[in-house]
Amino acid sequence: MVDQSPAQKALVKLGLTRPIDLALHLPLRYEDETRITPLRNTREGDMVQIEATVTASEVQLHPRRQLVVTVEDGTGSCELRFFSFYPSHQKTMAVGARLRVRGEVRGGFWGRQMLHPAFRKAEGELPQALTPIYPTVAQLPQAYLRRAVASAMARVELPETLPPGLQPPVARFDRENGLQRPWNLRESLLFLHHPSPDVALATLQDHSHPAWQRLKAEELLAQQLSQLTAKRERALLRAPELRPAQAAGAPALHERLLAALPFALTAAQRRVGEEIAHDLARPVPMHRLLQGDVGSGKTVVAALAACVCMDAGWQCALMAPTEILAEQHFTKLIGWLEPLLAERGQQVAWLVGGQKKKERAAMLERIASGAAALVVGTHAVIQEQVQFKNLALAVIDEQHRFGVAQRLALRQKLARHGLEPHLLMMSATPIPRTLAMSYYADLDVSTIDELPPGRTPVVTKLIADSRKDQVVERIAAQVAAGRQVYWVCPLIEESEALDLSNATATHVALSEALPGVTVGLLHSRMPSAEKKAVMEAFKSGTMGVLVSTTVIEVGVDVPNASLMVIEHAERFGLSQLHQLRGRVGRGAAASACVLLYSTGDSGRLGETAKGRLKAMAETTDGFEIARRDLEIRGPGEFLGARQSGDALLRFADLATDGALLDWAREAAPQMLDQHPLLAEQHIQRWLGTKSDYLKA
Ligand code: ADP
Ligand code: MG
Repeated sequence: MVDQSPAQKALVKLGLTRPIDLALHLPLRYEDETRITPLRNTREGDMVQIEATVTASEVQLHPRRQLVVTVEDGTGSCELRFFSFYPSHQKTMAVGARLRVRGEVRGGFWGRQMLHPAFRKAEGELPQALTPIYPTVAQLPQAYLRRAVASAMARVELPETLPPGLQPPVARFDRENGLQRPWNLRESLLFLHHPSPDVALATLQDHSHPAWQRLKAEELLAQQLSQLTAKRERALLRAPELRPAQAAGAPALHERLLAALPFALTAAQRRVGEEIAHDLARPVPMHRLLQGDVGSGKTVVAALAACVCMDAGWQCALMAPTEILAEQHFTKLIGWLEPLLAERGQQVAWLVGGQKKKERAAMLERIASGAAALVVGTHAVIQEQVQFKNLALAVIDEQHRFGVAQRLALRQKLARHGLEPHLLMMSATPIPRTLAMSYYADLDVSTIDELPPGRTPVVTKLIADSRKDQVVERIAAQVAAGRQVYWVCPLIEESEALDLSNATATHVALSEALPGVTVGLLHSRMPSAEKKAVMEAFKSGTMGVLVSTTVIEVGVDVPNASLMVIEHAERFGLSQLHQLRGRVGRGAAASACVLLYSTGDSGRLGETAKGRLKAMAETTDGFEIARRDLEIRGPGEFLGARQSGDALLRFADLATDGALLDWAREAAPQMLDQHPLLAEQHIQRWLGTKSDYLKA
């Protein structure tokens, strides 16, 4: 094998291996080298190319060592300054040399100047098209990348994959110019790599140009095709048909659970419950996302699904991303289900990372024998050693925290019957509609759009941390009224230690400021027994204030807590803030969330931080929060582990390309039905090997 040069290695690392990958590697921007501007016509701040002769060249030592080259073009002169330079530069720019120089003109008191302009010998014709500037890395010079792209463009086959009847809509831009035909892929790519200089650059920048429209349409279509393929492939798989066993006269397990609950289901819970039960009864694996705001009551819905599964004689696994959350599910589910299961001689098993060997072995044994009908835990549930007797339903809470590999591993757990388990994913971060239609097109979505009755809306206040004293007074008042308070300390990036010392210091300070109040501390480094004890004390009400790092982010349920203080709220993400706020307002008492923010040394909040805090103050609606979050952060964060599949859209922007997305959603099923080979070719072109990630 031939050794690869650093540039070749960089190409591979950027995923630019096939000619089509290079062809689809599009410029970030362009430089106009098609024109020469006479120096006389240049103005301060202009980005220009000049052609001029070197009249002087010297290295000055003051105030800093620098190379100063003077050039003249017959209409004026200009000084070129370089603070770093090599002998080769001096040689190219020797007195008498004729140069083409590109840079920004600065008009100082001493005349025109350019700092570190690009330069080369003036020779050859001027290019006819704009010069592309590609996204690249240090090891991969522009010139090398340009040659690689040009050579790929010369070699690449770009057969038309869109059947004549399935053309994307003609862009507005085109219609206005009387063009009725959308651009095809080849002409779009040729143009985008080397646009003619008369193009309106704005249309390239904002991707409204018809060449861009075509690429975005193709990309969205590839995404829809690949997800639809995944969905259809999944429909061919077999899963156990889960229907409640109707033993003579006895009510089904889920009915008994309903009867035992201290509340009635909301209409929304009933509706999604039916959607799930319908899926479970089919011989095809369910692939459903259950979304509902914090506190909307997803756990009960999951428990009902578990009942149907266990009633049919199969095992159910419920996984949560953290031990605390898993523990909550466990306690709750045990409370509800254990008495019912016990009557049937069945058990619940518990699996987490830090378990004692003996306990773990006992649990594994229960799971393998089938004695445990329900298994609750963390990632530990999907480890290899865990053998289920007959797993038929897996419920994943906070699904975005689990990776693709983990979901795949779960599916393997039933492989031996030639069957796949049903999968129910839960999320408290609602997926905005456009995202659901694009990235999650292969998922069925159930939404709980209603909170249980009796919740009081949480009032949110933004308070500068210079007014912390007032917040402490407020805490004292709440505790005096018999309420409880959360105080959340921020995650300090990349420093768990600092994180901890910060939480510890806050704990000490609050304990001092609130004499007579029990102030507890909870952080991720604590042994689980200690965490448990702290949570117990808070739940039972003996602890008035709980200081914690973000470990309580998800799932903690203490209805008596009526005040949530989030310190350095400006450092938190929007959905994280929303989740945290969801910890209060669970009881009948009026609740509040105080977002303490600090402006740091600058005295101002950054724009995104401001946007997040504003959104929090303005709405408590999870869907509205999600929509704003998408606006602020883009889709990456919503997709969680899915983004590791590189399946993010590179070109299309869901905020502006709704029309193209609609077109792609309509075109994909037709193309798969009528032109399966073209569809396959199209997916390969755009996703190559990446399409596998989408199938998990
Ligand atoms: P989340 O959707 O955030 O997971 P949970 O399932 O933890 O919400 O439910 C939040 C709280 O609401 C729990 O205490 C749960 O028992 C309670 N709950 C769930 N459904 C109802 C209902 N229909 N009526 C009253 N309370 C309910
Ligand atoms: Mg939950």
